[in-house]
Amino acid sequence: MAKPPATDKLRYGRVLVKLSGEALAGGKGYGIDLSVIEPIAKDIAKAAAMGTEICLVSGGGNIYRGLMAAEGGMDRARADYMGMLATVMNALALQTAIERAGLSARVLSAIPMPTVCEPYIRDKALDHLEKGRVVIFAGGTGNPFFSTDTAAALRAAEMECHALFKGTQVDGVYSADPAQVKDARRYDRLTYDDVLKQDLRIMDGAAIALARDNRIPIIVFSIKSQHGLALVLQGEGSSTTIDGGKGN
Ligand code: UDP
Repeated sequence: MAKPPATDKLRYGRVLVKLSGEALAGGKGYGIDLSVIEPIAKDIAKAAAMGTEICLVSGGGNIYRGLMAAEGGMDRARADYMGMLATVMNALALQTAIERAGLSARVLSAIPMPTVCEPYIRDKALDHLEKGRVVIFAGGTGNPFFSTDTAAALRAAEMECHALFKGTQVDGVYSADPAQVKDARRYDRLTYDDVLKQDLRIMDGAAIALARDNRIPIIVFSIKSQHGLALVLQGEGSSTTIDGGKGN
């Protein structure tokens, strides 16, 4: 079982943070920019120093997206495997930045590639977490036709995480795009069903349903704000919580 929060101030003892490829790309919007990853790694290190056990799932959209490649004529399943390989590159970059921030981190891939990183073995991942290491899950679910959002919900359930944190460019879910609509309103709280029925597109439907079925709250927070993760973990800063509503 995941241990409870280390202090009264902390909301969750073990969390999974989903980082889309977009969060790792620099100004060009593609590729990997270590200077962009650095502050994220520092935020993760701060959260870990407070006593939170942290797992990460890396996306791959900054390098390759299967669906888009399929629209360009690639075989969909093969393109998805290429997308999953992209998530491994991002995971290795994240591992580097997290180690530079002073933490120990391990990459576990759903697609075994033993000369590059460890294969995903649930017990191994739990063991790393209990030893205070950050665990980075790469390779998505290991299956085509899925997304890394779904991989994040799946691994959060397997790791018995208390919450799934979805890092985005803004500090939560808004009624409209805050970059376009001046008086767009940020929701403090939504239910899984609100998100599914209103098609709010925070994560794909399979991920939301998996989180709902396993009663894992989803916290949408800004990956851009300084120490955003550490603040939200202490109930400060702004974010949107998605859960089952009354009584959760
Ligand atoms: N992918 C997949 N199965 C998975 C996870 C990911 O096939 O379980 C592929 C898919 O092609 C996807 C790509 O990997 O487009 C990158 O993942 P995603 O689009 O979820 O990355 P993000 O949008 O989070 O950067």
